[in-house]
Amino acid sequence: MGVLNRHLGMDRENETIALLTLACGSFLVSLYAGYRLNGIGRTIELPLFGIEFHLISTPLWVLAGLATLLCLQQLFHEIWHHGVWLFGIYVLSGLGTTLFYVMFDQGYLWYLVALVLILLALFLIYWMILEIYALRSRIQRELPDEEIVLGDWLPTLPAFMLFTMLSYYCYTKWYLGDPGWTFGYAAEGYILFQLLTFVTALYALWVPQVLLGRHLEEEIQEGEVLRDLLPGSSGRCPACDGEMHTSGMACPECSHRESVAYCSGCETYVAACPTCSLGAQVGTTCGGCGEDLVRLTCSECKHTGPVRFWASG
Ligand SMILES: [Zn+2]
Ligand SMILES: [Zn+2]
Ligand SMILES: [Zn+2]
Ligand SMILES: [Zn+2]
Repeated sequence: MGVLNRHLGMDRENETIALLTLACGSFLVSLYAGYRLNGIGRTIELPLFGIEFHLISTPLWVLAGLATLLCLQQLFHEIWHHGVWLFGIYVLSGLGTTLFYVMFDQGYLWYLVALVLILLALFLIYWMILEIYALRSRIQRELPDEEIVLGDWLPTLPAFMLFTMLSYYCYTKWYLGDPGWTFGYAAEGYILFQLLTFVTALYALWVPQVLLGRHLEEEIQEGEVLRDLLPGSSGRCPACDGEMHTSGMACPECSHRESVAYCSGCETYVAACPTCSLGAQVGTTCGGCGEDLVRLTCSECKHTGPVRFWASG
């Protein structure tokens, strides 16, 4: 849920579509402004730095680029630190490639700088992969029945870096007027690889966003189960006041899953009473109907047995 959703009352799906459209639009504007090497508008030179920029196209390039980032931030705000890292990979590998080809005749120091930047980009990729896999295993523990496959997400990060480097390779060749290995298509190559970079970035962020969305859904479900079993306790253990979690306990007879709340601190289990369905601590008597709840009872086959014989998960 982003700003559009909160302040304009837009529903989630429309917000996603609007942000995606805005992100693509501003990206294309920025790409076009950067593509016009001769620029749009009057040329202004900054005498101090020897840099020249164009009155319209340079600000347009920068502002539309920032607008793209802002849209992506809104679109993926739950996992935006991944977006920042992806942007870091983009800047490091883009700058590294540019320095490598533009400063190649300025001595070995520039090769070294370019190499360090590329290595930092690779390190960020490694870091991002570690984090996404940690997120996956956390969710996998909560959803043991579902297989979360990251096989087609994994190559997107190296692909993203490769496309970034290729696009800046084309850009420098085009800027220097040297064909290199671009077969005379340096400008077109730049556009093509920039588009591929953008699409890969969207996919690379989409996957963790969906994964996390599932994780949040799980948390909401857990909250509902806790509210049903322990109303008014804000999810606290009735025995030790520790934090309760929920678990599906599989019946040893019919493998039907009962939702129970448990406290890992004092190993207290709270399950719905089979008679009055009020939440009650296993091992005590039900506060609602006075039934003895020594064991856990399956609501499906009525099997009743000690909690330790039920498989949790
Ligand atoms: Zn407890
Ligand atoms: Zn059963
Ligand atoms: Zn009862
Ligand atoms: Zn059951």
